[in-house]
Amino acid sequence: MSRIETKLTAAKAVSTNGQAVADVIPDGHARLRLAVASLCGTDLHYYSNFANAGFVLQNPITLGHEACAYVVDPNGSGLKEGQLVALNPIMNCQTCDPCKRGEENLCTAKKFPGSATTVPHLNGFFRAVIDHPARCCRPVKDGVNPAHLTFAEPMACALHSLNKGNVEAGQKVLVTGCGPMGLLAIAGAAARGADVTALDLRPQAVNVALKAGAKTGLIAGEFDEAEIEKTFDVVVEASGAIPAFNTALKAVRQKGCISILSNIQMRAAEIALHLIMLKEIQVVGSFQFNREFEEAVQLIEAGSVDFDALTAQSFPLEKTADALELMASGGAFGKIILLGDSE
Ligand SMILES: [Zn+2]
Ligand SMILES: [Zn+2]
Repeated sequence: MSRIETKLTAAKAVSTNGQAVADVIPDGHARLRLAVASLCGTDLHYYSNFANAGFVLQNPITLGHEACAYVVDPNGSGLKEGQLVALNPIMNCQTCDPCKRGEENLCTAKKFPGSATTVPHLNGFFRAVIDHPARCCRPVKDGVNPAHLTFAEPMACALHSLNKGNVEAGQKVLVTGCGPMGLLAIAGAAARGADVTALDLRPQAVNVALKAGAKTGLIAGEFDEAEIEKTFDVVVEASGAIPAFNTALKAVRQKGCISILSNIQMRAAEIALHLIMLKEIQVVGSFQFNREFEEAVQLIEAGSVDFDALTAQSFPLEKTADALELMASGGAFGKIILLGDSE
């Protein structure tokens, strides 16, 4: 299939029209009405390539795993009709060894919406009516803005990368890549009291990073890398670009930590691995999140992060394909959000 044909098929995959709504709500699920959803790099990979990180879609699906919604029918759960809830997309089995250890991100029987990792695939959150396990719906206190609450899932991913890197107040932290995930890592690290430097190729992205809480902004190619050598306690790699990973290896101090938050796709690469040995660098991976979902919701409830400054643009749900095209064009700085119908 040509790239264009793939794209057309993928565009059908995100169509939000004509979605059949089941008559019966599955056991343990609540019926919800979408409030706000947001676009993730994962959605873009599926949209553009019908695949992400080596997982290929077997059939068209509705994308989306970042959203908040209003309860329409609690279906016997403790949720209340009309309540705004954050949706945790990780539907873990609750019985495997990782689940027992509180590591639901590594659950061996996890279900995840809008993803080829779950077979058969489950439709994602880019739709008006969503049935979701009630236990994965986190009610929030009154007055929380749904346009902020949709950040719960990506913020949880960013907080997990900070926890994996043990980011604390007073540390010098470099975030390479100022896409939505990098921006949230910056905001989260700044909220913890770290001294954050942001690095990106694009001056506009660095500007948003400064609004997100970075004290210093660096534009790749416009500064001398020798000046930041062995400077940072922790580097959060959020670009997925190999040159940025090599910069991270240089910029981290001896015995420092590089936490990989980016969704690095498989490719051939030249990496300065000897620096890991010479400086005793720790390189840790960060995949999704566990308790950080709760941390993220609390951060949003507390209003500690200016999510409006991190929002690039909003589209109505029916314009999801346009929103993905904007993301694909690279012309958006910050998160793109989708608005459900307001009642
Ligand atoms: Zn995501
Ligand atoms: Zn499990």
